Amino acid sequence: MTSTEPTVLRGQLLLPGGLTPGTLHVQGGHITAVTLDPAAPTDRLILPGFVDTHVHGGGGGDTMDGREGLIRLARLHARCGTTTLLPTTITNPWARVMDALRAVADLRRQGVPGGADLPGAHLEGPFISAQRLGAQPPFTLDPTPDRLDEILRLDVVRAVTLAPELPGATAAALRFARAGIRVGVGHTRADADTVSGLLAAVHASGGQAAATHLFNAMGGVEGRAPGPAGALMSDPLATLEIILDGVHVHDTAFRLACAAAPDRVMLITDAMRAAGLGDGQSELGGQPVTVRGPLATLPDGTLAGSVLTMDAALRHAVAAGIPLPQASRMASLTPARSVGLHDRGELRVGLRADLVTLDAALEVQDVWVGGQRVHHTHVPGATHTPGTRTP
Ligand SMILES: [Zn+2]
Repeated sequence: MTSTEPTVLRGQLLLPGGLTPGTLHVQGGHITAVTLDPAAPTDRLILPGFVDTHVHGGGGGDTMDGREGLIRLARLHARCGTTTLLPTTITNPWARVMDALRAVADLRRQGVPGGADLPGAHLEGPFISAQRLGAQPPFTLDPTPDRLDEILRLDVVRAVTLAPELPGATAAALRFARAGIRVGVGHTRADADTVSGLLAAVHASGGQAAATHLFNAMGGVEGRAPGPAGALMSDPLATLEIILDGVHVHDTAFRLACAAAPDRVMLITDAMRAAGLGDGQSELGGQPVTVRGPLATLPDGTLAGSVLTMDAALRHAVAAGIPLPQASRMASLTPARSVGLHDRGELRVGLRADLVTLDAALEVQDVWVGGQRVHHTHVPGATHTPGTRTP
């Protein structure tokens, strides 16, 4: 889905050097020119659209629902500035997980009008530790060659979560990495040395390695037992997913990760079905979930994913003391590159016109996916979008 109508956006452009008053020209779904414009409006920030590599659901839909659920979650998150997302499966019986991946493959080809681009899936489970399930149902499996064959044949997975201590995990990580799939360490009880060994093997193969929601379902960092989080933060290359909703990770732990890895932190939502719906009852992977404010919990109190959206994660990062340009990279460029997407993630001529405009309070105003406007916040009293014209 691309528009052939040219669009011109004026405002404060978030360029690699920081916020710059300018004009962005879009045509044919791509950015065609970026020009300086000292008179551009100061209360309109233009950022690359957000890229969420870990999102189970939202707007009442879940990846495990198949087509209709994917459409709902792609549209809900697009309204919140996410222009690219990887629908994320949950640990379930194998056939259900395969069905969910097939649904992502179908929609990836067709696209979701009014929704985020879906360039592939994140396979979270079943290749995880039965002792570190978090909110994942107990259908864990080992990553056997037969199961990997099935996944790789579908050619839709872009990111996988893997516990390094499972039998066959290193061989599986290498196969995933060589297939261009980001290998995320997560839901694991491995020690730091085991994790570092797996990361080194992935790097040596030229693949991308990551932390699946750093600090969650992997324990913390201690001097004599740095654990997976210590191994991942101290690694020179691994990118680090963080659920920045003020519930899953303490702001100080977030700042620690940013200090250790200023260019490797990625914001994710890990959002579930109830994101965007407010308080009430919901479900995750067949389990009942209660949502109250930012808290989504299973009956035993375990955190059950989040109701976070990427715009709120960006605001949280800035409120925690991260400068906006760095927070924007965490929400767009770093996650895009981590899953091999080089055609998006920054405001540069030739890249996809995946854009979000924010007001001075960093609230979402307008969202474009591939040059198509998919969201517009009505501002009372305004008759048109300030700074936008279509010649
Ligand atoms: Zn998880």
